[in-house]
Amino acid sequence: MKVWIDGQLYEKEQARISVFDHGLLYGDGVFEGIRIYDGCIYRLEQHLERLWSSAKYIKLAIPMTRKEMRAAIVETVRANGLRNGYIRLVVTRGEGDLGLNPENCRKPTVFIIADQIRLFPQELYENGIEVISAAVQRQPVSALNPRVKSLNYLNNILARIEANNAGAHEAIILDLRGFVVECTADNIFVVRRGIVTTPPVYLGALRGITRDAVIEIAREQGLDIREEPFTLYEVYDAEEIFLTGTAAELVPVVRVDGRHIGDGRPGPVFRQLLEEFRRRAPRDGVMIDEG
Ligand code: PMP
Repeated sequence: MKVWIDGQLYEKEQARISVFDHGLLYGDGVFEGIRIYDGCIYRLEQHLERLWSSAKYIKLAIPMTRKEMRAAIVETVRANGLRNGYIRLVVTRGEGDLGLNPENCRKPTVFIIADQIRLFPQELYENGIEVISAAVQRQPVSALNPRVKSLNYLNNILARIEANNAGAHEAIILDLRGFVVECTADNIFVVRRGIVTTPPVYLGALRGITRDAVIEIAREQGLDIREEPFTLYEVYDAEEIFLTGTAAELVPVVRVDGRHIGDGRPGPVFRQLLEEFRRRAPRDGVMIDEG
């Protein structure tokens, strides 16, 4: 495997960054996870857009143009001979000293990993996963807006530890008032009385690229799709629930906090959206061969 770091490809064993990098010392950086479907880098432009927006929020100047970044990503995918897979793109504040002041970091570090990822075994995609609601709450948007895809994922990791402790596959995170926000690495959709609802991003959710794609498909298919706040009441009472994310893709949820959802099996709305998502994905992005 070859890893791209600051303009050069390295073998995995030689792919190293400094222990003084503030991405490591302080979680000072931003990232993206991007899928490759049949030689197509899925929605690459939207991912780059979000990366640049995340970087702007933390006042991090990405030391490349978007065109250069696009070329570096394509180069990394090609160097690894991947037609299907997952790209991790990271920009950190770079090497500094032991103080947290970002001004002491001379140049941001950029690295790109292209590999495979599978979050859940196939059986769970077919039969659905079990989730819990986490006790840990989402940090308010005024503290650090979770729309920023930053290297600070401890809020999510704490919720994931709760899921692990409970023997569940994922955790639903609520905001300080009890509104559902998202899961630890995925957005959430509930279908209740035929209406498909996902929490608005202003509650403190990442605006997922997969979420956007699913909303678009649902609209085009004439489903009643809304971005509105809801609580665990609506979650427990839902006919269907599913999660969306680049790594997880679309995954059905059949149990929440010990309650069966619907009839305890993935539902028709989920299956319909999944089918259309899969049909569109390999053509919705930048082709590696043309890139
Ligand atoms: N929420 C969080 C917290 C995430 O980290 C992610 C990405 N894994 C998502 C939602 C889904 O976003 P996307 O569809 O862009 O991968």
